[in-house]
Amino acid sequence: MVEYCPIPVSQYAMTLSSQDVLKAFERIRVFQRGEQRAVHKPLLILLALARIAQDAPRMVAFEDIDAQFKTLLSEFGPSSAAGSRHYPFWHLATDSVWQLTGPPEFLNRPPAATPNLGELRKLHIAGGFAADTDAALRRDPALRAQLAHQLLDAHFPDTLHGDILQAIGLDLSAPTADEATTGTRTVVRRDPRFRERVLRAYEHRCCVCGFDLRIGSMTAGLEAAHIKWFQAKGPDIEANGLALCALHHKVFDLGAFTIQPDTYSLVFSQHAIAGEASRHMLMGFHGAGIILPQSKDYYPKAEFLKWHEGQVFKRPGRPVSV
Ligand SMILES: [Zn+2]
Repeated sequence: MVEYCPIPVSQYAMTLSSQDVLKAFERIRVFQRGEQRAVHKPLLILLALARIAQDAPRMVAFEDIDAQFKTLLSEFGPSSAAGSRHYPFWHLATDSVWQLTGPPEFLNRPPAATPNLGELRKLHIAGGFAADTDAALRRDPALRAQLAHQLLDAHFPDTLHGDILQAIGLDLSAPTADEATTGTRTVVRRDPRFRERVLRAYEHRCCVCGFDLRIGSMTAGLEAAHIKWFQAKGPDIEANGLALCALHHKVFDLGAFTIQPDTYSLVFSQHAIAGEASRHMLMGFHGAGIILPQSKDYYPKAEFLKWHEGQVFKRPGRPVSV
């Protein structure tokens, strides 16, 4: 648990250094009871970081992020975490990095008197990073990435970092060598709805093996993969997406298999070698067609599949008659 150490707002200069910002977030008081995971504030901060990356306004009304925050907590928090999602939105304001706006008489109630979900919605209470914190984070993508990694490392296992970032639509990919040299970076924003749109197009199942686990109402272990990578300027559209289970996503990105543009059949690489026990999960699908979306508009586009075959797939493919 991080100890809370209050600092008067007046001690902050108008311009905060990167170190000031990171330290302020390290001091955030994270609610933790015994072994209970403390993910509310970290997920809210990550969500707010993604909003900055998307050039969204500093303050956001609770009702406008309520649905997305609820989904995030359901997916990545402990059971029933989503039921107390109003706590971080309200209590983060005691941590100097967060501010609230709304009727003054309501905001001035005793700090411990947490309002309920209905009150936050009805009174349109808005929250956002404090102005100096917001300015520092807005002008420095590297600082945002550092803070996001700090929060992810402190609260989640590595295996979930990618899923969480994809769910909130935050891209932490490093600038290319050219961009680093020239100090410029073309800001390409990821569409936070990409994952949901792709999973829906494929009816929430892996297009290779049909894996469709749900835990409660949440899809689990299923990911939206870019055929042409986002890092290679592949667009965030359904026709450049595939719903893949975690296993098939990983080996697709490693080039163990690709998909034929004309027949949508799976071709496994001759370099991919699996033992008896795992062969059925991989080469067992060689030559089979993927499970396509209902709508032809969402079928994988040939130009993206050709890019994957040329740039990612480990050639040559296995002979179909094996
Ligand atoms: Zn699969």
